[in-house]
Amino acid sequence: MKYIGAHVSASGGVDQAVIRAHEIEATAFALFTKNQRQWKAAPLSAQVIDAFKTACDQYNFSAAQILPHDSYLINLGHPVMDALEKSREAFIDEMQRAEQLGLTLLNFHPGSHLQQIDEDACLKRIAESINIALDKTHNVVAVIENTAGQGSNLGFRFEHLAAIIDHVEDKSRVGVCIDTCHAFAGGYDLRSEAACEATFAEFERVVGFQYLRGMHLNDAKSTLGSRVDRHHSLGEGNIGKTAFSWLMKDARFDGIPMILETINPDIWKDEIAWLKAEQQA
Ligand SMILES: [Zn+2]
Ligand SMILES: [Zn+2]
Repeated sequence: MKYIGAHVSASGGVDQAVIRAHEIEATAFALFTKNQRQWKAAPLSAQVIDAFKTACDQYNFSAAQILPHDSYLINLGHPVMDALEKSREAFIDEMQRAEQLGLTLLNFHPGSHLQQIDEDACLKRIAESINIALDKTHNVVAVIENTAGQGSNLGFRFEHLAAIIDHVEDKSRVGVCIDTCHAFAGGYDLRSEAACEATFAEFERVVGFQYLRGMHLNDAKSTLGSRVDRHHSLGEGNIGKTAFSWLMKDARFDGIPMILETINPDIWKDEIAWLKAEQQA
């Protein structure tokens, strides 16, 4: 069973995200539980939490189908201690918000070294940030997203993800989300079935499918290995439709949220319908 959806807006309240996901006939969705461009947000009220849970029940979304995303401001590998502390606090808050909503996953970008510390030190810092957050929460799994590798962002090599996991103490509460656009921009080819097979064989060898907790389904405006993060609608970019069709037929991607972050929300409903149909095609 594939769970397929999109990163929907939570404007008007997190419960509205559930309704928007239902409207596009999604069986999964992603959302921000607070404004993603601000450090602080009011705590979730009992009323908001209740409305979210009620909407999830009404439209048949379980925690396994929902992949909240943290704020873009957070850098869990920040080289400067004060800034690192600020990010760690904000991340704990994000984990706690997810937990309050009854969710079990939190998707985040690993972090950036900002040319001030080396890759290894940054990856260890990220893992330590995860350890601290896991210690302060109970159920939520920290889901590290692979990145396109823009600037000094780490996470564009599967080896980076593996190195972070390696330093996380509780392996049962760490996972990864693979974004197809980011993988492609990071140098992993997906343009044919053979390329997909090879890329995910590499993923299995380096990270392992047991850690796969989500997917972001995006075509790419950017080119292979460009390290540039530019999403496109499915089939309109440099990856092409084959990869997404291939993903829909592979059982290793069952039971995890598969989320569109493609550039035209007006066609998400069509993209979801097409993905669903490709499972059987
Ligand atoms: Zn993504
Ligand atoms: Zn992206």
